[in-house]
Amino acid sequence: MDTKIRVTIWNEFRHEKKHEIVKRIYPEGMHATIAEGIRSEDLDIRLAALDDPEHGLTEDVVNSTDVMLWWGHCAHGAVQDDIVRRVQKRVLEGMGLIVLHSGHFSKIFKALMGTTCSLKWREVGEKERLWNIEPSHPITRGIGDYFELPHTEMYGERFDIPQDGKVLFISWFEGGEVFRSGVAFERGHGKVFYFRPGHETYPIYHDQNVLKVIGNAVRWARPQIMQAHTAPNSPALEVIRTPNPHTTGAGMVQDLDGCHLPLGSARQARKNGERMTV
Ligand code: ZN
Repeated sequence: MDTKIRVTIWNEFRHEKKHEIVKRIYPEGMHATIAEGIRSEDLDIRLAALDDPEHGLTEDVVNSTDVMLWWGHCAHGAVQDDIVRRVQKRVLEGMGLIVLHSGHFSKIFKALMGTTCSLKWREVGEKERLWNIEPSHPITRGIGDYFELPHTEMYGERFDIPQDGKVLFISWFEGGEVFRSGVAFERGHGKVFYFRPGHETYPIYHDQNVLKVIGNAVRWARPQIMQAHTAPNSPALEVIRTPNPHTTGAGMVQDLDGCHLPLGSARQARKNGERMTV
């Protein structure tokens, strides 16, 4: 495809305004640093933040986004449920979603995973080594056997995520723990990638390997199709010759709850004393 990938980088954007140490590392916000770091001809990037109207995720924005990035930490609870549902619906229709670091506890990630997404953590600024265990995957392209971050917050197992994700990175921490740091999922028609690095008090989103993985993930997660999920009644493609013992007449009727029944079954149900609208 020659069209650009429309990327929306969503950031809670509170730490950068409140804490001097974070402001020094990310003066315009983490989302702006990531945007600058992955900037490329094939990407059309815009930024959105929690305190924007509708969290910056209006119907228009969400419906014109191919891949969304999500960073949140201290204000997951402030994200409105109807906006979460809007983003979730778009993912199921085909939009890509890349969830970063403490976004593991965001409403959107938990909604898509269906698990608690809890983990162990410790913040002493220890070293992390991320092992690339799927070097043939598009998200790990250009990354060697491993890369290191000199100072990070530790996330440790057990990470309560579903087992259907493909693990691309495993982290080792100086303190001894390990963690599934890069995991790729499919939900509906959409692709979801969880990527661990990114604590706000370390310059993680200035790291070239981290930015390369995020850029790769954006291209991997771009929609292959965008399609709403409906549940249509499906006419048969072939003549069905197998007699249905429950149907003696053509057509469907509804019971009082709106459930559809074949006419023959409805006749039987009427005999049994059930009431039908038709
Ligand atoms: Zn953190």
